[in-house]
Amino acid sequence: MPITEEEWKRKLSPEQYRILREKGTEAPFSGEYLDSHEKGMYRCAACGAELFSSGTKFDSGTGWPSFTEPANLKNIDLRDDYSEGSRRIEVACKNCGSHLGHVFDDGPKDRGGKRYCINSACLLLGKK
Ligand code: FE
Repeated sequence: MPITEEEWKRKLSPEQYRILREKGTEAPFSGEYLDSHEKGMYRCAACGAELFSSGTKFDSGTGWPSFTEPANLKNIDLRDDYSEGSRRIEVACKNCGSHLGHVFDDGPKDRGGKRYCINSACLLLGKK
């Protein structure tokens, strides 16, 4: 059974709810995983799906955790987002539908050129 918004509100912190369920964005340079270099798997903070491996994380200087590629494309949903006028590509969790961030084409050229710009509040690091 799908989880209702009331249940998400109980399960998540207010900040997580705002970002994951209402497509919010955390303030840049504020998230707990921004400078994290610990090894492990970043999972969806809402449902636990595997999203990004620490091995693909890089310091983009943008203020949000950045990854070159998802750990498992099957767990990722990409959607057109015109909310700020120009087209961006929203990254969402395919398993629970929660918003995660956006993906841009200005990532490291030698690693595929993508920058998955993901809110720390949407992630939970399972350490290895
Ligand atoms: Fe999820």
